[in-house]
Amino acid sequence: MFVPYRPRTILNKGKRPDHWFWARYSAYPYIGCQHGCEFCYCRERKYLPHDDVDDFAHVIKVKENAPDLLRKALARQPVDLLFTGDYQPAEHKFGISRKMLEVCYDLGFPVFVLERSPLVLRDLDLLQEIDQRARAVVAFSIVSTPDAPGYEQVRQMERLAPPAGKRFAAMEQFARAGILTGTCMMPILPGLCDGDATLESVIRWTADHGGQFVLAGGLTLADQQRDYFFRVLGERFPDLVDLYETVYPRGSYGSSRWKNTAMRVRELCEQAGIPDRIPRPIIPGDKRSLNRRVAEALANRVYTMDLNGEPGHRVWAYRKASWAIEDLEQEVGLVYRTLGLKGLASIKNVGPQLAREVELMLKEWMHDKEVAGGHSGDC
Ligand code: SF4
Repeated sequence: MFVPYRPRTILNKGKRPDHWFWARYSAYPYIGCQHGCEFCYCRERKYLPHDDVDDFAHVIKVKENAPDLLRKALARQPVDLLFTGDYQPAEHKFGISRKMLEVCYDLGFPVFVLERSPLVLRDLDLLQEIDQRARAVVAFSIVSTPDAPGYEQVRQMERLAPPAGKRFAAMEQFARAGILTGTCMMPILPGLCDGDATLESVIRWTADHGGQFVLAGGLTLADQQRDYFFRVLGERFPDLVDLYETVYPRGSYGSSRWKNTAMRVRELCEQAGIPDRIPRPIIPGDKRSLNRRVAEALANRVYTMDLNGEPGHRVWAYRKASWAIEDLEQEVGLVYRTLGLKGLASIKNVGPQLAREVELMLKEWMHDKEVAGGHSGDC
């Protein structure tokens, strides 16, 4: 059932981009999802407007005024990456995702689309235009492959979504079109798709279909979504209930097991020659692109330190330094060229030790630029 809906606002704004997808904004055309994946966190109370959690996949609120709201909202914001797009079957009928992409193109905003449906291919032309003007990333949520052990079991948890093979085929077309694409392996489900053979297969299929990253993500279970998930798990996989009770005790996100899996994804990605982080898209003409790269490198260090279980205060020092460089009004290379190491150390939340790390990055990239600059004159 579709319910017309006219919200008053559409745009969610972060103070700065997140460190997973590099998106600062998000805006979506529908509430509820006909794919109805059993693990979907959108059933949590804070996202779902329905009293009955079972309505999530069957009662879809359609934000009829989403494109107009988005145009008004983005016109007042600095250009940065917008997480958008929703290609559930409703999109065939209403086409609101496409209209929102048109707004992004008009206003020069880059986009990040994360999908379980190949319907996103319908908008390949528009996404290419956005990519040329401002950058576009199209990632696919895939947690197993048709030839992986237990694939049919995994499908039991996302049975209304298009099969993984179709998502990989779509990935290949985006890669051929020159758009940054890859896999968000989310959520990796313990006992169903966190075995080595499945992880290795997803990474191999990604590389074989032109994907340029595999980002691992864990399952989150909270309030009514947790109860819903355990009900379904008990019906379809009663043997796994004890495992999930152990990994996801009430009030926890089960991070320790997920970290082991993410470490394994990292090792397998290294073997396959692709990163386990999404390369940050740099918007053409961004005068502070060097700041973005430094912030990205520091954020990637945060991820590694987190996986390695390094002390929280050290992880936070890097996280805050990444934010500081992101927020810096001046171009960080200019700060370094004019004030040297002292200038970097004087940036709030950077300090002398991290300033030296930033200096090494800058020296390397400035050297690369000089080498590239010298070479380009040859032709
Ligand atoms: S496709 Fe995505 S949004 Fe839709 S139910 Fe599945 S996980 Fe949730």
